[in-house]
Amino acid sequence: MQNTPFADANSDYKNARYVICGVPFDGTSSFRKGSSLAPQKMREASYNFETYSSFFDIDLVDVDIHDAGDLKVAKDIDSTLEMISVHAGNYVKDGKIPIMLGGEHSLSYPFVKACQNKYPYMGFVVLDAHMDLREEFHGERNSHACISKHILEDVTRKYVSIGIRSGTREEYEYVRENGIKVFSADDVAAEGIEKIVSQIRDYISGPVYLSIDMDAIDPAYAPALGTPEPYGITPRDVRAVISCLAPDIVGFDLVEIAPEYDSGNTALLGAKLVRDFIMASAKASLYETADNRR
Ligand code: MN
Ligand code: MN
Repeated sequence: MQNTPFADANSDYKNARYVICGVPFDGTSSFRKGSSLAPQKMREASYNFETYSSFFDIDLVDVDIHDAGDLKVAKDIDSTLEMISVHAGNYVKDGKIPIMLGGEHSLSYPFVKACQNKYPYMGFVVLDAHMDLREEFHGERNSHACISKHILEDVTRKYVSIGIRSGTREEYEYVRENGIKVFSADDVAAEGIEKIVSQIRDYISGPVYLSIDMDAIDPAYAPALGTPEPYGITPRDVRAVISCLAPDIVGFDLVEIAPEYDSGNTALLGAKLVRDFIMASAKASLYETADNRR
């Protein structure tokens, strides 16, 4: 691999439980481009942190993580999706938990699809400021503004979004008419994330895919985004969602950071959330193993 790997990704592919890959593509980004730089910026930022976390009481040196590097992308989104779906499919078939570092949000699709092939009743949870429920955007069906629509129509109706505060009138109507579970950022502020997460646990049990569009988080914490939107949720809210869902997460991605719009804090937070996910998931599997032994 040509680039710096993610910190503590010291395992070879064969023995790894977690496989990190970057997808440096931002071709359909509509406002500010640059998320293609995010995978490498997050890898660099990942070296800031201790391997041990007191919050999760786990040390990443004890976890088998592999960094597969950046996947090859094409100039256009359709060919890129095709190319990365081969890798996504292999990771899942090989029993790995894929961790995709975007890149733009449309890149989630092949990873979600690969996980659903293995876990047909899988649910999908997305953190996002935006509905992403357009049928197409600027003439592009696979635009980052359409990802949730494709998940709902082609993958699963066991769908929940959190942090929403932006969409067209039509998108809000679609949500109402179809009874889609959407928790706005204002819902999170009013009710508290714990209450919302426990409702999600009631609604989605079993395997789940978690997709984090970083713009769910308030731009005060995460300013370097493709499409920043004020009045967002906090990093602690995101960590609470990750911690609670981790035992059942079969695929994870973190997308839409455009690193050149700040001095590094958004990529740093992105790297931290990726590490938090791995720790939360690894900790849950430790308990599982212990339970099985009893
Ligand atoms: Mn999005
Ligand atoms: Mn978004």
